Amino acid sequence: MLRFDPTTLPESTAALRSQVREFLAAQGASLGVRNSDFTTGHDPEFSRKLGERGWIGMTWPSEYGGGERTFFDRYVVTEELLAAGVPVSAHWIADRQSGPLMLRFGTDEQKARYLPAITRGESYFSIGMSEPGSGSDLASVRTTAKREGDGWLVNGTKLWSTDAHRNHYMVALVRTEPPSENRHAGLSQVLVDLRNDGASIRPIRNIAGGEDFNEVVFEDVLLPLDRVVGEPGNGWQQVTSELAYERSGPERFLSAFRVLVEFVRAAGHDPNPAEAALIGRATSHLLALRRMSISVAGMLENGASPEVEAALVKALGNDFEKLLP
Ligand SMILES: Cc1cc2nc3c(=O)[nH]c(=O)nc-3n(C[C@H](O)[C@H](O)[C@H](O)COP(=O)(O)OP(=O)(O)OC[C@H]3O[C@@H](n4cnc5c(N)ncnc54)[C@H](O)[C@@H]3O)c2cc1C
Repeated sequence: MLRFDPTTLPESTAALRSQVREFLAAQGASLGVRNSDFTTGHDPEFSRKLGERGWIGMTWPSEYGGGERTFFDRYVVTEELLAAGVPVSAHWIADRQSGPLMLRFGTDEQKARYLPAITRGESYFSIGMSEPGSGSDLASVRTTAKREGDGWLVNGTKLWSTDAHRNHYMVALVRTEPPSENRHAGLSQVLVDLRNDGASIRPIRNIAGGEDFNEVVFEDVLLPLDRVVGEPGNGWQQVTSELAYERSGPERFLSAFRVLVEFVRAAGHDPNPAEAALIGRATSHLLALRRMSISVAGMLENGASPEVEAALVKALGNDFEKLLP
């Protein structure tokens, strides 16, 4: 059953919001053109500054460099960074989903090895789910990892891997057992060192000439045994949990926020009726989506797993990001 309890951000978050705004104002023009789509600005120096402020891994345990703060605090920082349109893509996936995935399913050794560098804003992750022929139907992935001596031998191709040519690691969904009647069985997640394991990374040029996506090809790439995240065979449960983290934030409905800001600026203090109606329509959608997203943050804070609610906010957010331009 769908449930969005009305949730208000705690008063304590107001001071944090001011801190983020002051910090961003102090960065001045160094942050380039503002764009609220989190995938657009890969700026390791800025990610490191956010790490220093404690704004990466905010809810994680302190033993791994986390801030042990609430999901409301994390929501406020996320919202401010996206609304301001600053370059956050370098650390975003690691903070939002790869780190939480490892915290939940990884071994103690994996947590100790990978998480602190993420919270410092120094270690960046890509998502290795899609393949040629496997998109929405993710369980159809064909990349395999087979036990070979002291490791896992990986073969196959991942597609649309955002920033794999800039990031350090990829968490790849692979088949570790042959397909069976239960299509969700026999899948695992493996950690790939994108710079050192020998996978070939080929950028895909987009229509505007930019290179953000990649094809990542594995030809007999041998990974050490300890690169399986969690349990071999548990990949489906893990990947769905990872997708819940991906969907739980305000990324989609804020991605085109700067378009709305510029439109309001251009319409000025005395918008004509058509402009006023557009601003009203867009703003009311935005406020409804925001309340739903804060409700999801509240459910996460209470230890619930609002997977369907989070997916709904992402789907409606996708509609909104198309409506705005
Ligand atoms: C900006 C961006 C960044 C991305 N970054 C990454 C990344 O870093 N890593 C990664 O792994 N992937 C990434 N992707 C890939 C993305 O997750 C896939 O594109 C997505 O899973 C959809 O797969 P597909 O493109 O193959 O479309 P398809 O699965 O082929 O779907 C095509 C169309 O058919 C519809 N459709 C599919 N199945 C059904 C069905 N059963 N019933 C009804 N309709 C259906 C879909 O809704 C869609 O409209 C990225 C995509 C985008 C847009």
